[in-house]
Amino acid sequence: MWGRVLTDGQELPHSRVAIADGRIESVTATGRPEPRDLRFEDGWIAPGLIDVQVNGAGGADLTSAEDPAAALAHVARTLAARGVTSFCPTIVSTPLASITRSLAAYGPRTIQGGAESLGLHVEGPFIDPEHRGVHALEHLRSASREEIDIWLEAGSPAIVTLAPEQPGGLEAIEQLADSGTVVSLGHSGADAAIAQAAIDRGARMATHLFNAMPPLHHRRPGLVGALLASNRAVLGLIADGMHVDSLVIDLVVRRCGADRVALVSDALAAAGTAPGHSVLGDQTVVSDGRVVRRLDGTIAGCAVLLDECLRNVRMWLPDLPPATLIKMATQTPARLLGQTRKGRVAAGCDADLVVLDPNFNVRLTIVGGACGPD
Ligand SMILES: [Zn+2]
Repeated sequence: MWGRVLTDGQELPHSRVAIADGRIESVTATGRPEPRDLRFEDGWIAPGLIDVQVNGAGGADLTSAEDPAAALAHVARTLAARGVTSFCPTIVSTPLASITRSLAAYGPRTIQGGAESLGLHVEGPFIDPEHRGVHALEHLRSASREEIDIWLEAGSPAIVTLAPEQPGGLEAIEQLADSGTVVSLGHSGADAAIAQAAIDRGARMATHLFNAMPPLHHRRPGLVGALLASNRAVLGLIADGMHVDSLVIDLVVRRCGADRVALVSDALAAAGTAPGHSVLGDQTVVSDGRVVRRLDGTIAGCAVLLDECLRNVRMWLPDLPPATLIKMATQTPARLLGQTRKGRVAAGCDADLVVLDPNFNVRLTIVGGACGPD
């Protein structure tokens, strides 16, 4: 294929991207495409999008799925149709047996015609009841070495979201980080000192920064202040226009830079479907087409997918270079997860690509060298 390329925070001139055996064979700048090349005069060839927080999509909820394999495949194909080539299937707080089942069912794997799973994101159950959001109170519990041992036996999670100030929280961070899991801080009322201790113990991410945590206060900077000030944590941000104001997205991107921001959808089953009722874990939720809420009005998550979040940020920050924008949904999450062959358009990387038009609409998705469902 031939077109302008976004990679490594830069825009390359028109180039040939050659693919062989599921990998990118070469990227060569040239004004002349080969006769057989797919040509994209405008728009860009970019790394496929990577979403590290996806609870469901296309009507399927991963936490409560009766047939996890079928749900995963359905979500993966829904995502691939929208430019996402790999993702972390995400479950909310749930009993131990459901977590081990999900670790086995949603671990790293390729999926025919769909986005690849990079491993499970376990959101909760070791979170603050006061900041649980839509997580069910009865499923929350204290972190214990014994429970985490059982998780690791079933399969290593890619990401665990926990509240470091809760009993066993700091010890759990060390245990998980030692096992190679990315620990993300969220659903938490931690003060700045505990948050810094958590980062010192190995926490490397913030889960939907600003949501389900106390707001930034100039005399009590808290978790949000500590995360913004640290240069060791990647900040997950939901750019749907509802969870975080566009002004705040602007502030964070300019303060922290694209190397430290991972755009996430936090998509629920309702994403990619018409507005209406659906499920999250064992609760009924309702979507207006953008935001999904519990029936009492509590925000539960997002009804839009990552491509739409990118278009939002492009609209809000029109002077942000496209290569900087795309990095927050590709290279930054890939690096966070230690995925060295993903998130870039470079020789040797997986042939996970998305072709975007000048307005960042998805024109084509390629996963592992194969065209996606559309
Ligand atoms: Zn959450």
